[in-house]
Amino acid sequence: MIPYGRQEITDQDIAEVKKVLRSDYITQGQTVPKFEQAIASYCGASYSVAVNSATSALHISCLALGLGPGDVLWTSPNTFVASANCALYCGAEIDFVDIDSKTYNMSVDALSEKLILAEKQGKLPKIVIPVHFAGQPCDMPAIYKLSKKYDFKIIEDASHAIGSSYSDIKVGSCIHSNITVFSFHPVKIITTAEGGMALTNNTEIADKLSRLRNHGITRDKKKIYKLNKNEIWNYQQIELGYNYRMNDLQAALGLSQLNRLDKYISTRHQIAKLYNYEFKDLPIKVPWQLPKTYSSFHLYPICVEKNIGSKQIQTHIYNYMHKNNINVNIHYIPVHRHPYYEDLGFKKNDYPEAEKFFQKEISLPIYPTLGIKNQKTVIELLKKKLS
Ligand SMILES: *Cc1c(COP(=O)(O)O)cnc(C)c1O
Repeated sequence: MIPYGRQEITDQDIAEVKKVLRSDYITQGQTVPKFEQAIASYCGASYSVAVNSATSALHISCLALGLGPGDVLWTSPNTFVASANCALYCGAEIDFVDIDSKTYNMSVDALSEKLILAEKQGKLPKIVIPVHFAGQPCDMPAIYKLSKKYDFKIIEDASHAIGSSYSDIKVGSCIHSNITVFSFHPVKIITTAEGGMALTNNTEIADKLSRLRNHGITRDKKKIYKLNKNEIWNYQQIELGYNYRMNDLQAALGLSQLNRLDKYISTRHQIAKLYNYEFKDLPIKVPWQLPKTYSSFHLYPICVEKNIGSKQIQTHIYNYMHKNNINVNIHYIPVHRHPYYEDLGFKKNDYPEAEKFFQKEISLPIYPTLGIKNQKTVIELLKKKLS
């Protein structure tokens, strides 16, 4: 079976995790801070807070930016449900901005138009979450400009996009956002099994994020108050937080994987290049790249532009590939189409570009250990069907 994405675990990775397993601390020792520093310095951000998933990172990022009941959060419909659920965790309202038909990211034009309308209705979003779909960076300078005009905060959902950059700015630098979130789930670019991270350049936000991942507890002497002289208070809970901590085993795996990040992305580019070349004469729309961006190529999304018989071509190709042991996937079922979101009042055609993309998209296998032989199998199967 060839999946659409998978992790690579080397002997070195295992040795690094083993070292931690045999050390004094296996959860909150020195490895998590080391991993945090390494990622922050890779991205050029001042602070980073490691957590147990990107979902947790999104949740506490929303809280750290003050999202609550009565507030509105906007994101892309073409994403994993976690990008939207974080708003609902905070009791806020969720809404979506349709995607661009070329990049499949949140459309800046659609965002501008929706902001004009929202301002008139007095319902501007408090937070906008652009998602770097497939690793393709969003037009962050343009979104940032709008955030200044309409006074909203930005969380970049960069779950797909560690190692991506635009105009030589690394995704994660937070130059055009308040917070950037990464996922280290095994299908993503590098993995800690489960894991995530929130990066920021703001000291207060960083402090708040670290407290929220650890029950709302502080050990900062300046923050510990009502000290009774005869009592020992070396920590206090000063707000309501969670246990969203990453542990040292995960961080050791992540640190070891980070050494291969750039190599991974160049391999992903080689894979994408071969697909692009081989599909030149097929009715396949290959992923377009926004000028001046460098994608991590977390996904290789294609759209099949042909009809075979009466069946929808996407279903046809999807089943055909699975029958041949190629586990292609669909990214994404638009968030608002899930039954839970339909119950909130969203309708199928609320975001027509996201819907159009969903009806055509297929994610082909792309990961560092795919290998030329497996990739050729994928290519030949598609050629047989679509030539
Ligand atoms: C994977 C993913 C998430 C959630 O990541 P976890 O680490 O599994 O919580 C959030 N947003 C997007 C776009 C993702 O692809």
